[in-house]
Amino acid sequence: MGILEETKGLIEVSVDELGLPKAVYQHLKEPQRLLIANIPITMDNGEVQSFTAFRSQHCNVLGPFKGGIRYHPEVCMDEVKALSMWMSLKCAVVQVPYGGGKGGIICDAKNMSEDEIERLSRGFVRSMLKIIGPEQDIPAPDVYTNPQVMAWMADEYSMAKGHNAWGIVTGKPLIVGGSLGRLEATSRGCFFVINEACSKLGLSLKGLRVAVQGFGNVGSYAAQLLENAGAKIVGVSDSSGGIANEAGLSVDKLMDCKAKTGSVSEYANGDKISNEQLLTMDCDVLTPAALENQITGDNASDIKAKIVAEAANGPTNAEADKILTDKGVLVCPDILANAGGVVVSYFEWVQDIESFYWSEEQVNTRLKIKMTDAFTRVYDFSQRKQVPMRKAAYMLAVQRMGEAMQMRGWVKKAK
Ligand code: NAD
Repeated sequence: MGILEETKGLIEVSVDELGLPKAVYQHLKEPQRLLIANIPITMDNGEVQSFTAFRSQHCNVLGPFKGGIRYHPEVCMDEVKALSMWMSLKCAVVQVPYGGGKGGIICDAKNMSEDEIERLSRGFVRSMLKIIGPEQDIPAPDVYTNPQVMAWMADEYSMAKGHNAWGIVTGKPLIVGGSLGRLEATSRGCFFVINEACSKLGLSLKGLRVAVQGFGNVGSYAAQLLENAGAKIVGVSDSSGGIANEAGLSVDKLMDCKAKTGSVSEYANGDKISNEQLLTMDCDVLTPAALENQITGDNASDIKAKIVAEAANGPTNAEADKILTDKGVLVCPDILANAGGVVVSYFEWVQDIESFYWSEEQVNTRLKIKMTDAFTRVYDFSQRKQVPMRKAAYMLAVQRMGEAMQMRGWVKKAK
């Protein structure tokens, strides 16, 4: 079963078990609007090439659509739809007033020039002009899009409207309405979730043994925050392989090594391991921070971590989820564990609307409150209803959207 069908299945079960009207599921099983655009761009060689772009606007019952745009040769409609559903769920879990959105352009960004990427990004905004806006749908960076791309998009939108509208996208550079703390927000949010999960299991961050899969934006900063809090990073990996050391790896040195050699697996002070070995190594906390579908029925029973904190989107498939739950592993699901990014995106949008910018400390303090509150709600619900954390997070999110639908009259109230 693909990620879209798995996500729909979990939403349907949540609607049923919560006793919500079936019509709630009818609203949530498909995006409210799906736009496909054809964007013709003049390439550097003078030829015109057409790119297919998608924007999925899943559900705006709680607020404007919000979610990233990815530039990737394999982006497809089902992926964008599923990712927009996760965004709706994520925003509802952490109680930020947004609905889910996601976009993508089928392109090989790695082999395009900066000028071509700029023209494509501006073309995307022009083709979506009628359906995006600070009060309608607010894109953000995702795979192979970055603050520079967001700056071009904000500029194109502002030019079209005749005034600066920084609130149109988040994840912007600071100079054009970005927020302090946005770069590390997803990792910091995940760090707060791990902290709370540890306290529930009576584990201290001091000496906690952590393995991190994926040493990119999210994985590297998460490792750094954990190390600063006294944890031992006993293993890390990236797409070229991994490295382990029971005595602990230095995150600063790993960052240097990755910058110089391209991979953490070249780090001298440790034993080379494969990605498969990293996932099943002896540790207290495993943080998958790379790709979807890494923990599966094939390896879940070998996982030794007591806590799995899903920094990546969709790293655990349904079969593995059941195995981990039966083993008593505390799984902090993606829609909770990696929601720090959208929380600080929300803070960025609020700052843009008010034209009043916060200190990094204010951003981080408010992020901590949001993430710890969300963890507590999900954990308490899972204990009260005796359901795994993922199911608890889905049920709380669906409950919130379902209640708003009933209040707004989108569905008849349950008797
Ligand atoms: P990134 O591209 O910066 O880093 C990804 C890392 O994963 C890289 O180090 C890469 O080498 C590694 N990787 C790729 N394939 C791997 C494999 N098979 N085994 C081990 N490592 C592998 O991406 P990112 O922004 O850090 O995002 C990581 C994950 O977190 C994604 O699932 C993304 O959807 C999710 N996420 C990111 C954010 C954010 O704010 N960046 C927010 C929410 C969720």
